[in-house]
Amino acid sequence: MSKRDYYEILGVTKTASADEIKKAYRKVAMQYHPDRNPGDKAAEEKFKEAAEAYEILSDADKKAQYDRYGHAGVSGQGRGFGGGSGGMNMDDIFSQFGDIFGEDMFGGFFGGGQRGGRGGQRTRGVRGNNLRVKLKLTYEEIAKGVTKNIKVKKHVPCTTCSGSGAKDKGSMQSCGTCGGSGQVRRVQNTFLGQMQTVSTCPNCHGEGSTITAKCGSCKGEGRVFGEETVSIDIPAGVQEGMQLNVSGKGNAGERGGMPGDLIILIEEEQHKELYREGLNVAYELHLSFPDAVFGTQVEVPTIDGKAKIKIPAGTQSGKILRLKGKGFPSVNSYEKGDQLVQVSVWTPQDLNSDEKAMLEKLGQSNNFKPNPDKNEKSFFDKVKEIFS
Ligand SMILES: [Zn+2]
Ligand SMILES: [Zn+2]
Repeated sequence: MSKRDYYEILGVTKTASADEIKKAYRKVAMQYHPDRNPGDKAAEEKFKEAAEAYEILSDADKKAQYDRYGHAGVSGQGRGFGGGSGGMNMDDIFSQFGDIFGEDMFGGFFGGGQRGGRGGQRTRGVRGNNLRVKLKLTYEEIAKGVTKNIKVKKHVPCTTCSGSGAKDKGSMQSCGTCGGSGQVRRVQNTFLGQMQTVSTCPNCHGEGSTITAKCGSCKGEGRVFGEETVSIDIPAGVQEGMQLNVSGKGNAGERGGMPGDLIILIEEEQHKELYREGLNVAYELHLSFPDAVFGTQVEVPTIDGKAKIKIPAGTQSGKILRLKGKGFPSVNSYEKGDQLVQVSVWTPQDLNSDEKAMLEKLGQSNNFKPNPDKNEKSFFDKVKEIFS
């Protein structure tokens, strides 16, 4: 089943501002919220779909990737990114609502049930930051896709305290202000009637507990500076400048908070002989004059090993041979580029007297006078072809 366009899901145009996207999402989320559509599977799907669309379109990086590469460009569902199953679960979705509805309003609106905003669940710690790393890939690696193990220097959970930040079990104390729930409730009179509002506990900042003695290894932060080797599956066909998101592999959060994401910025290593132009690959083949006259068989490098090609007798300098399907695969379709081989006939620059004499003699011959075939493609057609 093909995925629907994120803009379509939220009912906005591609030029919508961040604010318009937020408003549109709020509207759709209200309409399909599970509390208002109990047991309605279709509504739940719509609700999830909208949350996913909003997650992408509200993030400038992800939005840019989506605009360029479509669904394949973002978090790569089904491509091994995002830590597996893909899609968002309900907890992820409700955690968005803090920003969207404001905790007070949302908790109140939906009666402060177990789901209200971040309600019911304590927010552990502080989320870690996203990390960006550059990754250089060869043409060969890009052609087939590759698994890379990269060492990332970052904040990792403290092993002494298992990320809690507390010295020991006894130094974690349930918060007195909220009774450990991480949130405080109060009843308010509003123009919509009496509403129960839920907000984050100001004392423990939603964590439900406070630390009386800090862990010595991490000074109470629950994380230390370290490194992790992260294994990343790079799909075939990525391009310079593309970003891949590996969720949860960024900096560890404070005191058990969610980790940030690892963002991989793709760079291409310059190839010695091949040049990439979109999905196509260009190669310049130097031929000796006799080889161009008599025809020959040559081996040319491709992004997938060597390929043998036949050069017909009488090949002109500048001729372009197309090796179908020898270019790069597309990252989000089955399309494949070609390799274009441009023939360049070598003109000798140093000649001895015998060679000079022979050439002078040949120069008299009628067969050596240029006589271009009118059926041959023109120079301009060839230029067009290269960039097609
Ligand atoms: Zn610690
Ligand atoms: Zn509290």
